[in-house]
Amino acid sequence: MIGKSYIGNLLSAKGKKTYRTFNPLLNIENPTIFTEATSEEIEEAVSLASKAFKEYSKISGAKKATFLNAIADEILALDTELLKMYCLETGLPEARAIGERIRTIGQLRSFANLVLEGSWVEATIDLAKPKREPLPKSDIRKMLIPIGPVVVFGASNFPLAYSTAGGDTAASLAAGCPVIVKSHPMHAGTGALVASAVIKAAEKTGMPNGVFSNLLSSGIEVGQQLVTHPKVKAVGFTGSIKGGRALYDLAAKRDEPIPVFAEMGSINPVVILPKALKNRHQEIAKTYASSITLGTGQFCTNPGLLLGIKSDSLSSFITHLSEEILKIDPSCMLHPNIKKSYKINKETVISQNNVSVVANFSSDVQNNFAQQAIVTVDGKSFLENPTLHLEVFGPFSMVVECVNDVELEMIITKLEGQLTGTVISDENEISNFSSVISALQNRVGRIIFNGVPTGVEVCESMVHGGPYPASTDSRFTAVGVSSIKRWVRPFSYQDWPNQYLPKELQNQNPLKIFRFIDGERTNEKIV
Ligand code: NAP
Repeated sequence: MIGKSYIGNLLSAKGKKTYRTFNPLLNIENPTIFTEATSEEIEEAVSLASKAFKEYSKISGAKKATFLNAIADEILALDTELLKMYCLETGLPEARAIGERIRTIGQLRSFANLVLEGSWVEATIDLAKPKREPLPKSDIRKMLIPIGPVVVFGASNFPLAYSTAGGDTAASLAAGCPVIVKSHPMHAGTGALVASAVIKAAEKTGMPNGVFSNLLSSGIEVGQQLVTHPKVKAVGFTGSIKGGRALYDLAAKRDEPIPVFAEMGSINPVVILPKALKNRHQEIAKTYASSITLGTGQFCTNPGLLLGIKSDSLSSFITHLSEEILKIDPSCMLHPNIKKSYKINKETVISQNNVSVVANFSSDVQNNFAQQAIVTVDGKSFLENPTLHLEVFGPFSMVVECVNDVELEMIITKLEGQLTGTVISDENEISNFSSVISALQNRVGRIIFNGVPTGVEVCESMVHGGPYPASTDSRFTAVGVSSIKRWVRPFSYQDWPNQYLPKELQNQNPLKIFRFIDGERTNEKIV
């Protein structure tokens, strides 16, 4: 079997460089041979996307909704073929594949509903005032318009929901931007199947050729060529800080710099307040042992850092957490390379001054399974050592024992930007820690009360992003329908003839969308 790229609607494999995906559970390569896209194929995909943009950017919300819903239907039609491939390429269980497929379908359908309804374009109309003194005022009408072809890089740990037809792709297509996916090498087969579903949907719903391409690659060159291509206008990335930052810098150095919306690693600090620790340390330890090991710790929202103030209760919590985490059976990581990085990063942290290992699963495990661990360190050592602030991607967490709330606040202030921050508190306890909470709010995109950070609900109010390096632009979310705003720009028409305006801005309001007219939100027409 030969895995090919989709260059627009056509399958293509002109290159000589090949690779295979890996089954981490069986510790063997999968049979399909994938052919890396060539420079010529990249050029073709980008040119097609650029041509498709002319038509696709003007397509109605109703037609885009039909396309997005058709993608969802075609993904479902792949049925067990897709689920099997997902499991073969990740070592994850089928239940996880089904869950992620539900999420992916849900995202596609929620963007379909958004563009079908249409008010998302934020149409804003300031009517002319020809008699205004001392100068007449023009008629000015603004709406959001698509930015151009978008390149999407998915992450290894979400082959469906943050990959080929995941959140970034769904949001870009909803915005009116063609998408070129740089396929993730670890799940190229899953990606190729999903790409075939997108292409089928595009053909069935009459979308222009080039609205979607899927380029296979097992190294950084294809991605680099895409990001530096002058016809590419934005980049969506989910993955490591190293990868996201490299692409961000590359895009900034272009003659025409373009935005790179990168969602990257995070250690997701959890602050456990003293009363909660005293009253519930055993229960909290159990909950957190599960959260740290969920999905073998391979979530961007994994709780990698637990912060508490030194006390007997904190010591008991550490003991319980160590006991609970060692009761959990180790599980498989996504790929031998991810397992290798986990081992190296864990050992690097363990080797730092004043770090104590309180739990480290020591029995033999199968190939590619991760041995979970918990370490502790004092607040001063944590503050002084930047290595301790780095993400260890896997089932690992560090408990920092602070001397008092002043040190706790100082640590939070010195943290890099994070996707989430969690506060574990007894009733009303947070009122005694208002400056700690404010400090945490300054460092994160989402704050959680008495819960765990793992699990990201897809809904309009979700913020999945945060100050750098959690993301490259904390003003936007990567999850939920407002993530569409990354792929649009505001555009104004001044004194433009009514019949030549887009429907969203015409006097008659033919789409019946909500608009702001002279400051008032209404779906009425202008008479
Ligand atoms: P990754 O190693 O950064 O890879 C992501 C993609 O980017 C791959 O296709 C990779 O291609 C490409 N890439 C990486 N470095 C590149 C470079 N310098 N130039 C061009 N392309 C480059 O990340 P991963 O292993 O897939 O994902 C795990 C990481 O993602 C973890 O850190 C996790 O926390 C983070 N993550 C974040 C979120 C979020 O929403 N914030 C969600 C999930 C995961 P090649 O593999 O071919 O090099």
